[in-house]
Amino acid sequence: MRIGHGYDVHRLVEGRRLILGGVEVPFTKGLLGHSDADVLTHALMDALLGACALGDIGNLFPDSDSAYAGADSLKLLDEVVKQLHEHGFRVGNVDVTVIAQAPKLAPYVPQIRQNLWERLDVAPDRVWVTATTEEKLGFTGSGEGIAAHAVCLVEEI
Ligand SMILES: [Zn+2]
Repeated sequence: MRIGHGYDVHRLVEGRRLILGGVEVPFTKGLLGHSDADVLTHALMDALLGACALGDIGNLFPDSDSAYAGADSLKLLDEVVKQLHEHGFRVGNVDVTVIAQAPKLAPYVPQIRQNLWERLDVAPDRVWVTATTEEKLGFTGSGEGIAAHAVCLVEEI
């Protein structure tokens, strides 16, 4: 067994779509980034890669590479899972926490979980997503950005 942890933050700005775990969440703002800025999926990919010592999304999918402009982060997750499998690993479970003052994310969590378990090739009860706030404190509390933490267990096959 190996454990991994990932953390990511993106700034909330007007004129962008808000994509979390591959789900477009209706909101007045979206996350700024080179790709679709899916902060949840980014934290998860870094957890998976870190657990297997396979690098991080910054060096796998550099934002200097125009190939990743506007990229669908779920497709990048597919690539990460493929690399794990090629290196003899499989996902045990993942647990992701998204920190956003607004919007309310609970209605979207079931679809986000499904997007993740399908791509991770695991049973539904191996994937959990919690949405929380920081009680109006800090940059998430003021609505400047959204943060995500992810932990995972990976098994060597
Ligand atoms: Zn990111």
